[in-house]
Amino acid sequence: MKTKQKKALVIGGSMAGLFAGNLLFRADWDVTILEKSSVPLVSRGTGIATHPGLIKALDAAGARLGQQSLGIDTDRRFFNTMDGEILAEMVVPQQMTTWARLLNVLVQAFPAAQYHLGQNVTQVWDGDNQQPARVHLSDGRVLEADLVVAADGNRSDVRRKLFQHPPLRYSGYVAWRALTPRDQLSPAAQEFIRDGFGFQQVPGDQMVGYAVLSPEDGQVGVNIVWYRRTDPEQLRDILTDAKGVHHPEGIPPHLLRPDVVQWARTEARRMLHPAWAEVVEKSREVLVQSINDGWCDRMALQRVALIGDSAFVARPHVGQGVVKAAGDALAMVECLSKDGLKVPQALNEFSDLRVPVGHLAVKMAQQMGAVIAPPNAEMAEWVQYFTDPINLIRETAVEIPGVAHLV
Ligand SMILES: Cc1cc2nc3c(=O)[nH]c(=O)nc-3n(C[C@H](O)[C@H](O)[C@H](O)COP(=O)(O)OP(=O)(O)OC[C@H]3O[C@@H](n4cnc5c(N)ncnc54)[C@H](O)[C@@H]3O)c2cc1C
Repeated sequence: MKTKQKKALVIGGSMAGLFAGNLLFRADWDVTILEKSSVPLVSRGTGIATHPGLIKALDAAGARLGQQSLGIDTDRRFFNTMDGEILAEMVVPQQMTTWARLLNVLVQAFPAAQYHLGQNVTQVWDGDNQQPARVHLSDGRVLEADLVVAADGNRSDVRRKLFQHPPLRYSGYVAWRALTPRDQLSPAAQEFIRDGFGFQQVPGDQMVGYAVLSPEDGQVGVNIVWYRRTDPEQLRDILTDAKGVHHPEGIPPHLLRPDVVQWARTEARRMLHPAWAEVVEKSREVLVQSINDGWCDRMALQRVALIGDSAFVARPHVGQGVVKAAGDALAMVECLSKDGLKVPQALNEFSDLRVPVGHLAVKMAQQMGAVIAPPNAEMAEWVQYFTDPINLIRETAVEIPGVAHLV
């Protein structure tokens, strides 16, 4: 007789939740994903740099790319000044995709009937060796499971309430993001960018830009991420909408005040090479995100695992967010599949494996961001190191060994 399937509940239906859901499903768990959003998650207009480990992790999770490419291949990285001088250039083959394209392939791999929107988890009880874990929802239901995976992102309630981990720490800078179809850029801008991975940097200010495939229509777009040192008072103003409401956890693009968007576009013309400034100028919308650090000392409590950004948030310079979420899910399912281990023991093994990886990603990202962050004597050597364009373009968004948890 087939043994009873173990039941898993996954909180959060984004990158980490879908990697975990797909891997657990393929390891014969009865798995349900609970996503707070009442509508399907859609594009955040953001580009994602891929790595070989990410492609392998997608394959392990059962996500099939089919005939469609994941993104745009680039093999040229270059560092330009405001007036177009190229200070450094090198060949680094990489594929650039979008957040939405990755999400689509992960959603398609997961059984639709087990993915539930509009499920807001309000409380989690971690259970123990004998008792199942319990999940409370805002509609009053209480669900039980052998395993609960908290993949509820960088503002995770589970991280805060159950694990009592420290809150996120603001880095001292924000990222402005813009995406414009490539064919809407002037011939001069297209010729300058040439589907390369571009960098521009002065102290307190760094821009990276690259081509991506638009998930909606398959067109090529040019995406930029522009980091700018921003003091907390200025940040508060940027995150306050036209009605005076402050959005400390992130402001939706449509609520950014017109004067703030106009200021960002004017600043782009003042600070960036005209090709990159054009991307900001012509972008349908402009996004802004505060850049934070998040870390913890354990990723498991009894029957509850913390994965992805709910456990560690590494600044985007290392480009590890998605591959780290995948690696967490792979390590967790590997530990859960070991013979003779109960769920709490398996999750402890998983936590011991992944906590050092999370710390490494956060530390490397802080070192890379030191050039942009407010001055800090302890980071002086890293400021000097990453001020050198060669070091910057060689080390940004390359896979950190071990993060994908694949050999
Ligand atoms: C500027 C910028 C650039 C980046 N560039 C890259 C890059 O190039 N490469 C890369 O790999 N990564 C990059 N990242 C990071 C990457 O986007 C994240 O690491 C990744 O999306 C984290 O996935 P996640 O599933 O852990 O969290 P999230 O994507 O935040 O998902 C959490 C989900 O949980 C849901 N949820 C929250 N609370 C509840 C609840 N109570 N009940 C039910 N559901 C809930 C949310 O609605 C959400 O869908 C970048 C990030 C930024 C800010």
